[in-house]
Amino acid sequence: MKIYVDGTLYAKDDARISVFDHGFLYGDGVFEGIRVYDGNVFRLKEHIDRLYQSAKTIALEVGMGPEALTQAVLDTVAVNEKRDAYVRLVVSRGPGDLGIDPANCSHATIVIIVAQIKLYPQELYDKGAPIVTSSVRRIPIQCLDPRIKSLNYLNNIMAKLDARRAGALEAVMLNHQGRVAECTADNIFFLAGGVLKTPDLMNGALPGITRASVLDIAKEMRLPAEEGNYGLHDLYNADEVFLTGTGAEIVPVVSVDGRVIGTGKPGVMTKKLIEAFKTFRTREGTKVVYPAATTAS
Ligand code: PMP
Repeated sequence: MKIYVDGTLYAKDDARISVFDHGFLYGDGVFEGIRVYDGNVFRLKEHIDRLYQSAKTIALEVGMGPEALTQAVLDTVAVNEKRDAYVRLVVSRGPGDLGIDPANCSHATIVIIVAQIKLYPQELYDKGAPIVTSSVRRIPIQCLDPRIKSLNYLNNIMAKLDARRAGALEAVMLNHQGRVAECTADNIFFLAGGVLKTPDLMNGALPGITRASVLDIAKEMRLPAEEGNYGLHDLYNADEVFLTGTGAEIVPVVSVDGRVIGTGKPGVMTKKLIEAFKTFRTREGTKVVYPAATTAS
């Protein structure tokens, strides 16, 4: 495995950042999780755009433009010779001193890791997952806008602990008004009366790349969709519920807080969307140019 750190490629054991890096000391930075499907980087432009938007909001100077960073991602995938992978792109505030002031950080640290994707077992997609509601509320946008994909995931991690304790895959996070926001590392959708629904981003959710893809697929399928304000009552009484995320793609949900959703099996529309996403993900990629001898892996 070759890891990109500030423009240089290192073997896994030699890839290092400073202990004074504010990404490490304060979670001061932004990141992306990106998939490579059969030699194509899925929706790379959207990921790069989201990264620069996150960086802009926290006033983080990336130190290179989006085109150069896009090329760095493509080159790092190519040099690792992986046709299917999970890419972690991290931009932190960089090395500074022990104070929180970003002004003392001379330059951003950029890391690109191209890893083997750890897939969920097929059983999860066949049987669906139970989820629970976390007692931890999503950080209000007045405090730290969840649209920023920042390196500070403690809010989500606290909720993930609730999911684990309940033996559930994921936990629903409500916002401070009691409205459904998202899950700890996934967006949430439900189907009610033939309409696909997902919380509006202003309720405190990450603008998921998979979320946007599902909304695009719904449009192509002429499935009515809306983004709005919803409570747990809406989820409990939904005909279908599913989660979306880069790693998990589309995961059917069969119960929420012990309330059975629909028939208790993955919904018909959810299964259609899972199938449609399989074509969509190969169609929406940026081709990687591998070294000549690459066969596969
Ligand atoms: N919400 C949160 C909090 C996330 O961390 C993620 C990414 N893991 C998502 C939603 C899903 O976003 P994407 O589809 O871009 O992976």
